[in-house]
Amino acid sequence: MIDLRSDTVTKPCATMRKVMFEAEVGDDVTGDDPTINELERYTAELLGFEAAMFAPSGVQANLVALLSHCQRGDEYIVGQTAHTYLFEGGGAAVLGSIVPQPLDQEVDGTLDLNKVKSLIKPDDYHFAQTRLLCLENTTWGKVLPMQYLVDARAFCNENKLKLHLDGARIFNASVAMNIEPREIAKHFDSVSCCLSKGLGAPVGSVLVGSKALIKDARRWRKMLGGGMRQAGIVAAGGLYALKNNVERLADDHANARTLANKLSDIEGLNVDFDRLQTNMVFATVKPGQGPKLAAFLKERDIIVYPGDEFRLVTHLDISTDDLESVAKAFGEFDYS
Ligand SMILES: *Cc1c(COP(=O)(O)O)cnc(C)c1O
Repeated sequence: MIDLRSDTVTKPCATMRKVMFEAEVGDDVTGDDPTINELERYTAELLGFEAAMFAPSGVQANLVALLSHCQRGDEYIVGQTAHTYLFEGGGAAVLGSIVPQPLDQEVDGTLDLNKVKSLIKPDDYHFAQTRLLCLENTTWGKVLPMQYLVDARAFCNENKLKLHLDGARIFNASVAMNIEPREIAKHFDSVSCCLSKGLGAPVGSVLVGSKALIKDARRWRKMLGGGMRQAGIVAAGGLYALKNNVERLADDHANARTLANKLSDIEGLNVDFDRLQTNMVFATVKPGQGPKLAAFLKERDIIVYPGDEFRLVTHLDISTDDLESVAKAFGEFDYS
């Protein structure tokens, strides 16, 4: 099976499994898991922060960040199709009584700071208190421009907002820009990053922030049921992923471009090259054709999400040879 639905489908390789098998562990709830401690130390350093906390998922890492930055009745401003608004079950509102204020992203994935400004609520008891701005990088495969990060930081300072990054794919962004990940992370008060996507670990995310923020975060994580015991077994996979699988994300980006080029030769399939910046290829077919195409591909052992507009995500378990088979199968479909 060639699974192009997401980079979350990656499976731990033999070496990663061995490292996990042999991981030194302890009770992390009492702070005694050496592998968790090392993962947190390593990630904090990599992203240039004082402290870090392992979380079982990116959703929990983001939720804990929101809960740590905002009090009940506070508001966060966030992209309309950002993960922290659209794809986390409304957790911030349900579990934190934090009010979301979504707005449409610009085509480059940024939130227009003038529009954000107009959404900040005045200090008046009719309104929730705007506390936090959330960005995402990469966002739908796009890398936020570096100057935008500088501007967003200055904007948040001026407007007394905190700034959180959903950096589920921050390493795709840093690799695409050929910079250190901390050059992106340094503009934020907190950053979450996923170990279980293109990096290939089976489970986990890490939240980084100040010591004070991470202290709060640990209490929230406990309340959410995310305090885990001998979690070093999974952290070992994450640590291995961070040390071995970051630079190779460049291969996924190159594969996405190769795939896009191959697919663009096919009549009836429209590849959106403007959205191609990292490991996601977006394409469209005629209305109603997507599900048929997905079923056709499935018979050829290729899995994609059905839809007239769909994405193909390259990752650790997609080889250059696979691209040829994928292009061939797409080419055989009748788009008329
Ligand atoms: C995947 C993802 C997350 C978190 O996902 P989990 O599946 O909970 O680890 C958060 N933000 C973005 C942008 C993501 O793609």
